Amino acid sequence: MLSKLSRKALPGQLSVGVLGGGIGGLAAALALLRDGHDVRCFEQAAEFREVGAGVQIMPNASRLLLRMGLAEPMFKVGVRPPSVEFRRWKDGSLIASAPLGESSERRYGAPHFSIHRADLHQLLLSAVAALSSSAVRLAMRCTGITQGMDDVTVRFENGRQETMDVLIGADGIRSTARRMIAADEPRFGNMLAVRGVVPATRLPDWPAPIVLWPGPGRSVLAYRIGEGGSHLNFVGLIPSTVEAAESWTNRREPDEILRAFDGWDPTIQTILREAESVLVWPLYDRAPLESWGIGRVSLLGDAAHPMVPYGGQGAAQAIEDAYVLGRCLRGATREDAGGRLRSYEAIRMRRAAAVQASSTGRGGELHLPDGPEQEARDAAMVKPSGSDPNAWLYGYDAEKDGPWNE
Ligand code: FAD
Repeated sequence: MLSKLSRKALPGQLSVGVLGGGIGGLAAALALLRDGHDVRCFEQAAEFREVGAGVQIMPNASRLLLRMGLAEPMFKVGVRPPSVEFRRWKDGSLIASAPLGESSERRYGAPHFSIHRADLHQLLLSAVAALSSSAVRLAMRCTGITQGMDDVTVRFENGRQETMDVLIGADGIRSTARRMIAADEPRFGNMLAVRGVVPATRLPDWPAPIVLWPGPGRSVLAYRIGEGGSHLNFVGLIPSTVEAAESWTNRREPDEILRAFDGWDPTIQTILREAESVLVWPLYDRAPLESWGIGRVSLLGDAAHPMVPYGGQGAAQAIEDAYVLGRCLRGATREDAGGRLRSYEAIRMRRAAAVQASSTGRGGELHLPDGPEQEARDAAMVKPSGSDPNAWLYGYDAEKDGPWNE
């Protein structure tokens, strides 16, 4: 069955297919719908089941979500941590504490949120549905993409086909759309992320700050998520030469994970014991591409720039992509749509590559063995140098980084 996305009569409006209904795909659908484009977001899953884990949305991304009309739900379900504490892996003693909250808002002009992934996904989905009840199409697994002179056709596993003016591949690290552009494969980083969520009632004394334990070859991060900080989210990063199956439902018994943190701060053992189960996720990335697009097809989010999570920036970069894509396609015509996609890519490729590189670098720092380098790192946390090394990352405003300002 062949169906064509409805052609809008108004100039400056395109029919846009977005492949993938993750955080990146939905943020893109929202940005494009807000400008009146005819958007269809094709998701392979028959129903949405976001992983039970948290995500931090740093100011560079939160300012864009707020600007896209999501202030009310973000402030409702997002937690704004007052500070981040760095603790010694062996005994949990405080190395340093850095203010977030209002201080970070003053410095970077937008809040730092900790949020449950399912809440973030749901609030994006609701915002998309409020603009178009038919934009999100479930059970639409893309199996092939073909480009014509002035359109793109996507084939789905269920036998359907859809044709559109442009297609955005937001289909994650194993993107089908990316295969049109590059023949590369994801790289396993010999690390696993172990994640879990504990109801706050089981850890009543848990403090409000984000807590990070950097350690030799591994680390743990814990922070509150859920309305009113109802849960504690933790993520442990551990080395592994064995790739666990890549699935958010790959559960491990906490005892197995406890052994990975033998000899660490007993608080970590307490958190792990309170978790009913732990999800295991092998960490992959891909090298930056030389191009993100071809003709009327372009990439976004993990499909374009999957990165290791040490900087907490993967979803943030997908949101920046979505915002810039929306700005670049504003007022586009069918004739200049391909050129507009190239402008989007030019802006986003340099920024995402810099953030990818910085995320990899942070992993090295986080996981230093005890010794002089670790001591220097900890000393810098206690007494940061005058200039803010994060200003370029969190202070960035995608609105100010485009040709629309010229
Ligand atoms: P995905 O979430 O992978 O979504 C892709 C979607 O496409 C999926 O719904 C999938 O089902 C669909 N799809 C795939 N193939 C097809 C197909 N053929 N047809 C149709 N649909 C398809 N980022 C942050 O900003 N802050 C953090 O604190 C943070 N912490 C993290 C911690 C860990 C341990 C990890 C692993 C990652 C973390 N990230 C964080 C990164 C972040 O989770 C990802 O970068 C982000 O979710 C990517 O979103 P996406 O929409 O691009 O891709």
